[in-house]
Amino acid sequence: MSAVDRDGPLAGKVAVVTGGASGIGLAIATRLAADGAAVAALDLDGAAADAAAAAIKADGGDAIGLAVDVTNRAGVEGAVAAVVDQLGAPTILVNNAGLPQFGPFLKLDLDTWQRVIDVNLTATFHCCQVVLPHMVAAEWGRIVNISSSSAQGGQQLMAAYVSSKAGMIGLTKSLALEFGRKGITVNTIPPGFIDTPMLRRSEAEGQLGPGVDAAIASTPVRRIGLPEDIAAATAFLARDDASYITGQIIGVNGGRNT
Ligand code: NAP
Repeated sequence: MSAVDRDGPLAGKVAVVTGGASGIGLAIATRLAADGAAVAALDLDGAAADAAAAAIKADGGDAIGLAVDVTNRAGVEGAVAAVVDQLGAPTILVNNAGLPQFGPFLKLDLDTWQRVIDVNLTATFHCCQVVLPHMVAAEWGRIVNISSSSAQGGQQLMAAYVSSKAGMIGLTKSLALEFGRKGITVNTIPPGFIDTPMLRRSEAEGQLGPGVDAAIASTPVRRIGLPEDIAAATAFLARDDASYITGQIIGVNGGRNT
């Protein structure tokens, strides 16, 4: 990772990153730490979360890994209490943990619909409700919700996923209006095609139609996105400089959705 700047733009801040052990979340945790924040990586995979924190610490940063299923309210409350105890009160929250879903709408069963909504949207609700009081107390806060470019135009064969991500966009805008006066900004980044384990799993399962190479060919900047592209935008939104940006959909997609 890039060297940690303990006096960087996020010095003194504590950040919670859900799904922080893999792909986009790992890059975000790493980047926020590089910019000076103490970071808690929350993930289903506790060993991978610990490894993420260890890598940040090896580079001179401050981090912890916590095993938690963010759909579990008590689990989220326990994890945030551990963050307060070990790092301090969090005032940066990145809701990134996510679950993809593919398949025809008429074959979409209620359990699958519910699980996708739970992981992508209801977990965002839990994390916002548990972390926001710390932001309100600090009169400063940053929430960045990682949604999806698929929610901007719809995507066939992904109805539950797109609905959950569109819900994140609506939640983002509503919270921005409610908490702006408290010094808290709430924005969403809908990524385009980003090279992560999730994307490569989906490609291997044949879920991406013509595949990643075809997506690159139709992307104006002619490359696949990197987790670091999303991390850079997230880190910017977390800075003091971004205090006049709230309720926004910040597309990071190589120009695919403009
Ligand atoms: P990823 O590599 O699969 O990482 C997601 C992480 O979230 C994994 O570590 C996963 O743990 C964790 N997670 C899943 N469910 C969880 C839960 N209930 N509680 C806690 N952690 C959980 O995926 P990614 O591509 O980086 O995706 C990150 C976010 O970006 C997702 O919200 C995704 O929808 C969104 N996104 C990605 C793309 C893309 O092209 N990659 C495009 C648009 C949007 P396990 O691995 O143990 O399940």
